[in-house]
Amino acid sequence: MQQIQNFINGAFVPPANGQYLDNYNPATGKVYSYIPDSDAPDVEQAFQAASAAYPQWKLTSLEDRFKILNRIAELIDENNEALALAESIDQGKPVWLAKNEMTRAGQNFRFFATAAMQFASESHHMEGHAINYTLRQSIGVVGCISPWNLPLYLFTWKIAPALATGNCVIAKPSEITPMTAYLLGDLCIKAGLPAGVLNIVHGLGPKVGNAMVSHPKIKAISFTGGTSTGKHIASVAAPMFKKLSLELGGKNPNIIFADCDFDKALKTTVNTSFLNQGEICLCGSRILVERPIYEKFKSALVEEVKHLKVGNPLLKESKVGAIVSKMHYDKVLSYIELAKTEGGNILCGGTALHPEGENAEGWYIAPTIIEGLAYNCRTNTEEIFGPVVSIMPFDTTEEALTMANCTEYGLACSVWTNDLTKAHTVAASIESGIVWINCWLLRDLRTPFGGVKQSGVGREGGWEAMRFFTEAKNVCIKY
Ligand code: NAD
Repeated sequence: MQQIQNFINGAFVPPANGQYLDNYNPATGKVYSYIPDSDAPDVEQAFQAASAAYPQWKLTSLEDRFKILNRIAELIDENNEALALAESIDQGKPVWLAKNEMTRAGQNFRFFATAAMQFASESHHMEGHAINYTLRQSIGVVGCISPWNLPLYLFTWKIAPALATGNCVIAKPSEITPMTAYLLGDLCIKAGLPAGVLNIVHGLGPKVGNAMVSHPKIKAISFTGGTSTGKHIASVAAPMFKKLSLELGGKNPNIIFADCDFDKALKTTVNTSFLNQGEICLCGSRILVERPIYEKFKSALVEEVKHLKVGNPLLKESKVGAIVSKMHYDKVLSYIELAKTEGGNILCGGTALHPEGENAEGWYIAPTIIEGLAYNCRTNTEEIFGPVVSIMPFDTTEEALTMANCTEYGLACSVWTNDLTKAHTVAASIESGIVWINCWLLRDLRTPFGGVKQSGVGREGGWEAMRFFTEAKNVCIKY
């Protein structure tokens, strides 16, 4: 069986303790490879390699940095199919969706490769007295920790700006989906990334992740994952005065007004609810529909969702694949049970599915729509992060906002209306880092990306990411 290795100092190496963890294929529920169960000594080895590479990498010309990062992007594109297949097997997502995500992983590198050439800093003139200019300098060795839902997509979203700004990186993918991060190491070698500039250490959060976060010389941590993990990371990193970017959980509302384009809102809501098995931090899991169209929208949505094909992620016709792990599968099913005890009526789905043949032991859940829940009950306020949504009517914009804003989260929302005033009012009043009007997941990589409340601290994307991975230094020159 395939054994994944750490990627340290430009080479594939086993974990220092020689221990490995099982890596499962969610589509079959079977172990299909092994992943290093690394620990603090591996992180230290990665740190030594990264700090040795740093003096040279930070002085590498912007054009040379661009060329290497852009070559990584090209190699990701050239290997799109192989990477997508690996991602699908590792994560459970349909392979057609994984192909789109691999395209985005390439775009991440291309975007920040070009950003490296465009990034500039400000100067502030004090008329008659002095001039200030800002140096934006790389930080040194930084840590990037990513989750399992969009594995290579989110891994590269952090690594690319960190490298583009001249830092050396220690990166940890989720232990649940390590495969494409492992494959990325080889592409970095082929692209000519100097040894030690990017180091990928595999293993568990409390071991590898914690060793990174508590390492006294790793000066910045960019983390995407759950809110409770984010809180823990902040509690360790903040007293060490590390730079910290936290992209955390969400419980996103879709607000659908009666004057919307019904068909577009309906079609998109199927995706916002169930794309990637609902395992996207930006998925809308609370569907709020204005009362005049509530019954019509609900019936049409249930009808569409009943026909979503759930099954083997490798088949073209599968629209929804497998849940990423047995633990997560059990968690999602437990929330469906909770919803029932909270008075929810299951309109469709609500059960595990067992496809035939080799997928019979995989972790599949039928796309589930629940009605009749109080807007502030646990099912409607806690993150489920699976193919489970709740649908509720509302009567006024104020009521929709009260319902939308009632959770501890504030990551994203989508609003469907053809009334400009209503759209702007909701966009300004909603507690959310990202608002999509008459669309969803339309991404311009230059825009600030992140959440408010317990959905995170800081922003990724565009110059925000370039600024996060640099330290600003003001230089004041008196006339
Ligand atoms: P998680 O918090 O369990 O794990 C995320 C990463 O953190 C993994 O690599 C894990 O190994 C590591 N980790 C765990 N404990 C750690 C510790 N003590 N110290 C350091 N690292 C540790 O999250 P997950 O279950 O992998 O991902 C799902 C969560 O991620 C959901 O809550 C989802 O909303 C969130 N998410 C947020 C965004 C966003 O942009 N805001 C994007 C994707 C996913």
